Formats: sequence, structure tokens, C-alpha cells
Amino acid sequence: MLYYQSVKGTRDIFPEEVVRWHYVEEVVRRHAFLYGFREIRVPVFEYTDLFQRGIGATTDIVGKEMFSFQPDPQGRSMTLRPEMTAGVMRAALQKNLLSLAPVHKLFYIGELFRKERPQAGRQRQFTQFGAELLGASSPAAVAEVITLMMQVFEALGLKNLKLRINTLGDTDDRLRYREALQSYFAPFHATLDEASKERLEKNPLRILDSKNPAMQELVAGAPKLYDYLKASSLQEFEKVLLYLGERNIAYDIDHRLVRGLDYYCHTAFEVTSAELGAQDAIGGGGRYDALARELGNSADIPAVGFAVGMERLLITMEKQGLFGAIPVKSPLVYLVVQQQELADHAMQLAWQLRQAGVSSEIDLAARSMKAQMREANRMQASFALFIGATEYATGSYALKNLATSEQITLTFDEVLHFLQEHSARQLLD
Ligand code: AMP
Repeated sequence: MLYYQSVKGTRDIFPEEVVRWHYVEEVVRRHAFLYGFREIRVPVFEYTDLFQRGIGATTDIVGKEMFSFQPDPQGRSMTLRPEMTAGVMRAALQKNLLSLAPVHKLFYIGELFRKERPQAGRQRQFTQFGAELLGASSPAAVAEVITLMMQVFEALGLKNLKLRINTLGDTDDRLRYREALQSYFAPFHATLDEASKERLEKNPLRILDSKNPAMQELVAGAPKLYDYLKASSLQEFEKVLLYLGERNIAYDIDHRLVRGLDYYCHTAFEVTSAELGAQDAIGGGGRYDALARELGNSADIPAVGFAVGMERLLITMEKQGLFGAIPVKSPLVYLVVQQQELADHAMQLAWQLRQAGVSSEIDLAARSMKAQMREANRMQASFALFIGATEYATGSYALKNLATSEQITLTFDEVLHFLQEHSARQLLD
């Protein structure tokens, strides 16, 4: 076995698969643009305290999920980003974006890093695309973000996805609820699993999120956040649901849905796919008005966003057979050299074709003509251009359509124009 192997929890994406990524990314970019979201790219690492403060010191990500390092022994610790939201908000605050315009709609596609135990659907390096709407978190803004996410899924042809939605109320609502949960779980302290015992003190809402089957019955009997919401919080939620209904977006209200991060408020949502195993969440998001203040801003900034895991999305698409139609990128023309003495001449022609925007392939390993033809077919080139002594001497070249086997003889200039036209048509397809 090779000594150098990829790290567990990371994976290589080879060209055949990259075309799928490009396809999904293109759909994401197109829809983000439709909804007025513009792309942002933030650094892959930040100071650790951005995530510690941003995510809330009591949640799991800080405890065990971050890859942190300290390049300079006296310096601040740094961390590979485990989420995007904190970085995007940091960037917005640092640039004072909201002084330029009251609302900013941003989207991203990027890699994240979490030190979780790798398993199916859970990697240590993975990719998310997502959107962050900063400066507004009205029901209209929340619905806009959810609609964008669902429309991307729809455009990709995904089926059997389930959108679950809940409201977490505001800080007051949650404080009252938190106390209610602590009083409910306290008498069962001995029966709680270790993770839940820890959460009881720090973040009892997360006990509801427990995947442990032994905890399900206890969790089912817990007080419902819904009963602790004030009227205005409920109205907000109902407005969001109304918008979704108007847009034919099916949802299930799930009062047990809580997002792990402390800065979330009001609407929270998650999308799961029946095609995935235990790790069935494909995306999720919610409102996070309090994040800006956690990051040192003098006031809250209304904000709402979502994030979707690309790898899980691609797994789901694969299982649903949604990739059949993606065309393989193949060269338009393969230059077949009949004698090696003409290789330099052929290379010069390939260069001219490429300069003119025609994707061209040429053998770089001095292989036989037969091997070159095999290669042209393997690559699914549309045409073969033959370069032999006669062609070189007369300046007219045989161009063969590899699909129909039709062959025409043209000067190089004619070849170039003919292929340029084909290229333009290929781009339109
Ligand atoms: P989160 O930021 O935890 O809300 O995750 C949002 C989405 O990212 C999830 O629904 C998953 O699709 C994806 N995701 C989260 N963690 C991982 C991971 N370790 N490996 C692969 N995908 C992940």
C-alpha cells in the first residue's frame, strides 16, 4: 500500500466528478444572482476567538470540532474555519458594509474543517454553499433565504427532501424556556447520557437535538418552546410560514428542531434527505441577529442565512440519478501526427487553434498514429486533424468528423474558421 494516503475524512475529487461540482456550483451561482445575492470569499482561517465567540463557547464545535494552531508561540491562536457565518459577519463588520447600504445579500461556496470523527457523510474537510442576508431578518427576508435554498434544490431536480422548520423565539422567550427545560430534566439527571448532562447546565436546548435513542422518550415529554413564545414571536413565525405556503414550499413544523449555535433566534430550519443515512441533514439555517453583537458590534444586526453541505447534496443527486445529462468536456479537435518529424509543426498548429479559442489536443508522448487515434476516441474529440508530409507540403489538411467518419480537405485557415464556428456552437449548447 502507498505510504502517502489522503488523511481520513478528506477526499480527492477527480475530473470526472469535478464536472458535477461545476454543474451544481453553476446552478447555485445562477439562482443566487436571481435573488440578488453576490458572492463573497473569506479566508480559510481566522483567529480562534472569532469562532469561539461567534459560535458560543458552550456549543460542541468549540469543544471538539475545531482545527486550531498557533503559528507563533506568543501569538493568537488561529483556526481553520468550521463554519462560514462568523467569517462573513466579521468581514462585513470590518469593512463596515452596512454603512454603505442597509441590506447586503451575500453567498459563498467554500471549504470547512471540523475535527469530527469521520464517517459516512461526515468529513473533516467538506464544502458548503450558503447565503447570508445581513441588515434584514423580517419574515420576508427569512422567506427569501429559504426560497432561494429550496429553488436551488428544485432546479437540481432533487426529490424527497424534507424541510423542517421551527421558531426559537427571541432571547427572553428562550431564557424562560431554558429554565423550564432545566427544571424538567433535573429530576432525571441520573438517566441522562454524558453529553446531555453536560448540556443540561450549559445549553439544555441541545439535549432536544440528541440522537441517542435512549434519550428519545425523555425528550418527547419535555416542555415545548412553542408554549413559551410571546405573541409577537408567534406572529413572525406564522408570517414566514404564510410566505412559504404561497410559494408552494412544503414544510413540517418541528418543535424539536434547535440549531446548535447560541446566536440563533426566531426561525430555524433544516432540510433532510431520505437518501442519506444517519447523517441525513443536507442543509439548514436560520436567523442570527445576535451574532454581530457577539462579535463586538455595538448593536444586533438583523441577519438570516442558510448553509448546504455540497458533498451530501452530491451524494443525494447521485442516488437519485440526476447526473446523467451532464456532458463530458472533450476537446473539439485532436491533431494526429503521422510522422514524428512533423510534431513541432503540429504543435505550432495546435497553438494557433488554441489562440483562436478552439480546444485542441495533441500527443505529447511520441506515440504511434494508431495510439493517437485511440486517444482521440477515448477523449471523445469531435474531429481529428491529420498532419502528414503531404499536408505539410501542400498546406491542405484532412479533417475527419469522428462521429460520422466524414472527411473534408481544407487549408489550415479554413480548418481554423470551421472549428471556430463549431466552438461557438458548442458554447451555446
Ligand atoms: P451546519 O453548519 O452544521 O449547520 O451544517 C450545514 C450542512 O453542512 C449540513 O446539513 C451538512 O449537509 C453539511 N455538513 C456539516 N458537517 C459536515 C461534515 N462534517 N461533513 C460533511 N458535511 C457536513
